[in-house]
Amino acid sequence: MHAEIVVLPGDGIGPEVTHAAVQVLRAVARRHGHAFAFTQCLIGGAAIDATGQALPEDTLQRCREADAVLLGAVGGPKWSDPKAPVRPEQGLLAIRKALGLYANLRPVKPHPAAMGASPIKPHLLTGVDLVVVRELTGGVYFGQKTRTGSGASDLCEYTIEEIERVVRRACHLARTRRGHVVSVDKANVLETSRLWREVATRVAGSEFPDVTLEHQLVDSMAMHLLARPRDYDVIVTENMFGDILTDEASMLAGSLGLLPSASLGEGRVGLYEPIHGSAPDIAGRGIANPYAAILSAALLLRHSLGLEDEAGAIELAVSHALDAGTFTADLAAGDTAVGTRAATEAVLEHLL
Ligand code: ATP
Ligand code: MG
Repeated sequence: MHAEIVVLPGDGIGPEVTHAAVQVLRAVARRHGHAFAFTQCLIGGAAIDATGQALPEDTLQRCREADAVLLGAVGGPKWSDPKAPVRPEQGLLAIRKALGLYANLRPVKPHPAAMGASPIKPHLLTGVDLVVVRELTGGVYFGQKTRTGSGASDLCEYTIEEIERVVRRACHLARTRRGHVVSVDKANVLETSRLWREVATRVAGSEFPDVTLEHQLVDSMAMHLLARPRDYDVIVTENMFGDILTDEASMLAGSLGLLPSASLGEGRVGLYEPIHGSAPDIAGRGIANPYAAILSAALLLRHSLGLEDEAGAIELAVSHALDAGTFTADLAAGDTAVGTRAATEAVLEHLL
């Protein structure tokens, strides 16, 4: 298969970890007879330095024409002046919006060898394999923001269509997994949540009779996610609840450096990035954990290119690297830790 992949290294450790992910994608292409063409473009602080814009027109154009986009991370202290006219994060928000990416998928599958890094007890983590599907384009983050004389307000809005499409995405995903979706809302209090629950019930009931849908209130979800994470398969929720629950869920895996994400829309172009940021404190030292970026490349193969076997091969290789004790400094203490390059080589070695 031929595929055009745009790589947006971004800032901080972004270039280091995307370089690792591209090396792994090249190895997969060689082994499985695919032709992947990589085009590197600017975004974030690197783009501001070079062009004055966080998302240059040329980058956006190339992303629109690509099959998939692999992103590192954006931002850093150099561009964090609140008075600056352009900020790196604007590049990320702009590209998500321009590509119509409304569903953010964050799979969480704690690896036995890395469980020691999680604050949750290992017996609760064994067998955990869940995906949070967070709505990315609506809700209180995008509603009108107002200051009045005596206070402030943020409007929370959802349309039926916005709810339908993300619930559909979650149900399709559940079909490829254990067929179980939990929809999270606050329907006892919020009108948008009552609409969410109505639409989710109708979509799942009429279009996905083979998928089981349950509803859960967000406050109880926050508790159960830590108390019985094994019971969840696909969790679908609105923007802000998803933001909070995905950070909580990341603690199940133990390190930011292990978790990938996929942002998907109706079109074929998806955006794949590790959930961690640009980690300016460790940038340029060759010690960043590349696994989250490498696992994001696996999601790219699965969701944008339909290469399930190849995606699985990458995930298995990361698993084997962890089993072999190849830990970067975020996972291992002191002098047993390896650098980005050695961790990447361990994955390449185990790649089938
Ligand atoms: P952002 O606002 O961009 O999400 P953040 O404030 O959440 O960024 P990160 O950049 O994710 O912060 O970094 C948080 C901490 O985790 C830092 O100490 C950083 O060094 C560490 N960290 C993040 N990613 C990795 C990684 N891949 N490998 C090792 N450590 C990491
Ligand atoms: Mg962050």
